[in-house]
Amino acid sequence: MKKEKLLHEGKAKKIYATADDDYCIVEYKDTATAFDGLKKEDLESKGILNNAITTIFFKLLEEEGIPTHFVEQLNERDMLVKRLEIIPVEVVVRNIAAGSLAKRLGLEEGVPLSKTVLELSLKNDELHDPMLNQYHVYALELANPQELARMEELALRINSFLVDYLMSRDIVLVDFKLEFGRYKDEIILGDEISPDTCRFWDAASSEKMDKDRFRRDMGEVMEAYQEVLKRLQQ
Ligand code: UDP
Repeated sequence: MKKEKLLHEGKAKKIYATADDDYCIVEYKDTATAFDGLKKEDLESKGILNNAITTIFFKLLEEEGIPTHFVEQLNERDMLVKRLEIIPVEVVVRNIAAGSLAKRLGLEEGVPLSKTVLELSLKNDELHDPMLNQYHVYALELANPQELARMEELALRINSFLVDYLMSRDIVLVDFKLEFGRYKDEIILGDEISPDTCRFWDAASSEKMDKDRFRRDMGEVMEAYQEVLKRLQQ
């Protein structure tokens, strides 16, 4: 299948229609953004690495019985996916305090959370992705209770699987963000799972292996993404 009309251009990906309405093609770009797009830079090969990393995760999740939009990797930058109606609710899963949670609750980064934390936020850069609770989700008719329950159940199952899998590769899964969509009456996982959307720490040194290196000007950003891919391919 090949790319037809450009349907949407986001910060890190372009979405193209295909001849079949049930499918679209995701092209992973090199652009890196942070702070709602205020900080922006091209990082050479980021798109290639995120496409490869997301492909590995989605294949593993499918094997675990988690429905994802992944169909196949077409080439270095392009992935064929099912065309979802994206639910504009970002689901963040947290195992260890970091980033905005550490700031908001006055916790030191790196403090383990004694129970997994799920957070919901509205996917809207202009409003800075405001946090939502379930009442907001229903009141704004973003998802119904059955759909939200399914999203939360899948998010927790994805977390359990990824925590163990990544630990076997000497990577700590600190937190990550998921997006879900509707496809033929089913809720399935969309978007990507990559160092752009996860916090990965080296198990031995706690060194950051994710987009925080870009957000915090730590350097060696692509080297870290490359190392994540290398460990997943082992
Ligand atoms: N995240 C993301 N997109 C967003 C917000 C968060 O992919 O729009 C990811 C982020 O990379 C991290 C997790 O979700 O792995 C939790 O992010 P946090 O709320 O701490 O916000 P941030 O520090 O990214 O502003």
